[in-house]
Amino acid sequence: MADKNVILERMKKDAKENRYYLCPDEELLTDLIDGLAKNEDRYGYGSCPCRISSGLKDYDVDIICPCEYRDADINEFGICYCGLFVSKEIKDDPSKMSSIPERRPPEAQDAAMEAKQKAEKGDLPGPEEHLHVQVGTDSKGIPIWRCTVCGYLCARELPPPICPICKAKRDKFERFSFG
Ligand code: SF4
Repeated sequence: MADKNVILERMKKDAKENRYYLCPDEELLTDLIDGLAKNEDRYGYGSCPCRISSGLKDYDVDIICPCEYRDADINEFGICYCGLFVSKEIKDDPSKMSSIPERRPPEAQDAAMEAKQKAEKGDLPGPEEHLHVQVGTDSKGIPIWRCTVCGYLCARELPPPICPICKAKRDKFERFSFG
């Protein structure tokens, strides 16, 4: 069973490193940490507590907390989609907390749900069939992926199912090398 205190400490550390703050509403903070712990138990990874996960890490990787949309949301609204991470302004005046629009492209959610349905029917294609990625030279640490349509770069185990910038599909990503 996932340890809620460990998750809380991890999120505190991440917030500090990024100069964010954790949710000033204690009750909401507790609920969100509970949700993350449940998702860790259920799926084996801490997917976002306020989004629907497919249960397929490959398709949920963009919503593993802290998600790929957090920084843009905090920059624009001072708060992440769930409210787990907030800016100093919101921390100092929690009355400014409010719900914000979903930044995750609907195509990413659709791709995840479609894959989930296929997996439930037992006909999910293997990674080699749905990734179509170039296997580049391993870099030190996490691989870097580049969207060949818009140039978006991200560091992660696998390319995202949908580019968060231009919405190109995963097969448009390639391994990126600085060399
Ligand atoms: S919206 Fe907030 S709580 Fe949800 S995954 Fe992103 S950073 Fe975590």
